[in-house]
Amino acid sequence: MTPFDLAGRVALVTGAGKGIGRAIAIGLARAGADVVLHGRRDADLDEVASAVRREGRTAERWVQDLAAEPEALAVAAAALGAVDILVNNAGVIHRSPALQQTYDTWRGVLAVNLDAVFVLTRALGAGMLARGRGKVITVASLLSFQGGLNVAGYTASKHAVAGLTRALANEWSAQGVQVNAIAPGYIETANTDPLRADADRERAIRDRIPAGRWGSPEDLAGAAVFLASPAADYVAGHVLVVDGGWMAR
Ligand code: NAP
Repeated sequence: MTPFDLAGRVALVTGAGKGIGRAIAIGLARAGADVVLHGRRDADLDEVASAVRREGRTAERWVQDLAAEPEALAVAAAALGAVDILVNNAGVIHRSPALQQTYDTWRGVLAVNLDAVFVLTRALGAGMLARGRGKVITVASLLSFQGGLNVAGYTASKHAVAGLTRALANEWSAQGVQVNAIAPGYIETANTDPLRADADRERAIRDRIPAGRWGSPEDLAGAAVFLASPAADYVAGHVLVVDGGWMAR
C-alpha cells in the first residue's frame, strides 16, 4: 500500500459524465476506489462507467438533477449507500453582464454550484462523521479568488464554495473527516468552450498561463487522488490550486 492507495474506498463524483468529473472519477478508480458516477442522464455515464471498469473497479450510477428541490435532493442523497469520498464537481456557469443576469439565472447557478454542495455534503458527511472517516472534495475555481468577467453568479458561488470548504473543515477535521477544495485553472472542457471559441480571448488566457497551455481534465486527477487519500489526512480546509501557475503570476 502507498499513502495514495484508495483500495476499499467508495467515491461519489458528481457530474462524472464528462470534463473534470470524468477525469477525476477515472483517476480515483485507477488509485483503487470503487466509484459511484453521478449524472443527469443515465446514458451520459456509459462511457465513463466502462473506463472505470477497465481500471478493475465497480461503477455504480446515480442519476439526479442537482437543481432539484433541496429537500428532495437530501432524501435522494441519504438513500445512497456509504460513501467514503465525496467529490462535489458538478457545476454550471452563465456568462453575461450582471445587469443582464436575471434573478432566476443567478439562483440557477447558485442552486447547483453552492446549494447542492451544501445539501450533498451534509447528507453524505453525516455517515462519514458516524464512521469517523471520510474525505470531501469541493471544486472551487480561480474565481474563488478573482472576480472574472461577466460571471457574477458563478464568481459568487465559487467564493462561497471556498468559504464553505473552510467552514466544514473547521467543524469536521477533529472527527476524521477532511474537507478540502481543488481550484482548477483554465481547463479545456464544455465550461470554457465559449472562451476558446474567441481566438483573441483564448490567446490572451494562454499567454498569461506560465505553463504555456490550457489544462486538460486529466491534470486535475492527481490532486483529487491526493486529497482523497490517507496522504492528506492532516490537510484540512485547503484550496489546492491546479492552474499551470496562473495564480503565481
Ligand atoms: P463541464 O464539462 O460542463 O461539466 C459540468 C458537469 O456538471 C457536467 O457533468 C454537467 O452535467 C454537471 N451538471 C451541471 N448542472 C447539473 C445539474 N443541474 N444536475 C446535475 N449535474 C449537473 O465542465 P467542467 O469544466 O468539467 O466543470 C466541472 C467543475 O469544474 C465545475 O464545478 C466547474 O465550475 C469547475 N471549474 C471548471 C473550470 C474550467 O476551466 N473548466 C475552471 C474552474 C472550475 P450535464 O452534462 O448534464 O450538463
